[in-house]
Amino acid sequence: MTFETLGLSPALLRALSDTNYTVPTPIQAQAIPLALAGHDLLGGAQTGTGKTAAFGLPLLQRLAKETPPKGPRKPRALILVPTRELAVQVGESLKAYGRHLRLHVATIFGGAGMQPQIENLRRGVDILVACPGRLLDHMEQGHAKLDAVEILVLDEADRMLDMGFLPAMKRVLARVPKDRQTLLFSATFEPRIKALALEFMRDPKQVQV
Ligand code: AMP
Repeated sequence: MTFETLGLSPALLRALSDTNYTVPTPIQAQAIPLALAGHDLLGGAQTGTGKTAAFGLPLLQRLAKETPPKGPRKPRALILVPTRELAVQVGESLKAYGRHLRLHVATIFGGAGMQPQIENLRRGVDILVACPGRLLDHMEQGHAKLDAVEILVLDEADRMLDMGFLPAMKRVLARVPKDRQTLLFSATFEPRIKALALEFMRDPKQVQV
């Protein structure tokens, strides 16, 4: 199994070879073709399995293929994560995988000043990686507009629920267009995750490692 056979574009293949990834991990092999085909995806995977590239590569490929709408660049992909550490890590991974594409990645998390994040949002963003609480603050102040989001990722959804983010997640999701692709990753498929999938996803394909 190689990344070529998964249907990834030359720009992404080049970035993967720069990063010294040669063989897709099991979650990548299962998730990437389904996500590229446009399906919603319920992914069962822990940290360390390569799940960031499993959702990140298809997301980058889709955004790079479509011309962004005219005007200031609003986020077309939104990735919700539970912690500041994960936000930084996912943001850096996406920048590495997208290094040969012209897509702007911004990260939004609490415990840091609002102003630098506001300036980043103003400069135009294609991919927004955010913790739900701080994202809500930016939305309420009119700095984060989610009406152009085409792809939504809920990363470590079980941890976001553990941390009490469900109300914030619901308020964010109410502002994201319904016509979108949704990718949800969680370590387990416990009932509350299934309930989340039922409420916010469309006929998701399930993959698990
Ligand atoms: P993640 O689960 O996305 O946090 O990834 C865990 C670690 O595996 C990170 O250090 C990635 O850079 C690395 N990684 C992800 N996919 C691959 C791959 N296909 N080959 C080698 N390393 C990988």
